[in-house]
Amino acid sequence: MSEFVDRIAQNLARVREAMARAAERSGRTADQVRLVAVTKYVGVAEAEALLAAGCCDLGESRPQELWRKAEQLAGRPVRWHLIGHLQRNKAARSIPWVNLLHSGDSLRLLEAANQAAARGQRVVEVLLEVNVSGDASKHGFAADQLSEALSAAPNWSHLRVCGLMAMAGWGTTPAEARRDFVRLRELRDRLQPDLPPGVSLEHLSMGMSGDFVEAIEEGATLVRVGSALFEGIDA
Ligand SMILES: *Cc1c(COP(=O)(O)O)cnc(C)c1O
Repeated sequence: MSEFVDRIAQNLARVREAMARAAERSGRTADQVRLVAVTKYVGVAEAEALLAAGCCDLGESRPQELWRKAEQLAGRPVRWHLIGHLQRNKAARSIPWVNLLHSGDSLRLLEAANQAAARGQRVVEVLLEVNVSGDASKHGFAADQLSEALSAAPNWSHLRVCGLMAMAGWGTTPAEARRDFVRLRELRDRLQPDLPPGVSLEHLSMGMSGDFVEAIEEGATLVRVGSALFEGIDA
């Protein structure tokens, strides 16, 4: 039983070490890049092992799975990240659990998220998801829709837009993924000079198990890592 707990702690230490080295190469310190541990492949016991090992930022890609785990871990010091597509009709039930919504992928969704946050009298941090790879199957704003989306942000009284999120194209090598990460960073740099009041683009959420090193080297402030944390564990 405690075997997987130790294994998760070791995997976590290895990922954190690689993150710290990549942060250094990008001229930053380890504490300037946050790890979001993606628990979608595992159960609540493995999520608790992460908490015990000191990792409190947990991410889920499916709303139902977020509800399930968040309800079971209610009262524990978890910061929940929703990283996958959220349908508008699930916003009301999801938003109360969410600390950072990475997948702000349409104006209609963001309006629904804002209403849900307002009902709970909370301000929820959100990222705008950008379809940098142009995959037709991917969610997210096209690069040329972003300035319009940003200009709508002041209408969302209970959301705080604080950055951009992207996924590299399907089946890309780390080198190809790096090009997508560079695109997201350059897009941020271009939008940065005229942001509406209250909006920041300080965060870039990019990089997963196979390419988080490249993502950090290119400026990620948040990486979303799942499988690398659960190597050697049959969940
Ligand atoms: C599953 C998932 C991840 C983590 O993927 P791994 O390759 O297992 O690290 C990151 N981001 C999103 C949006 C995901 O759905």
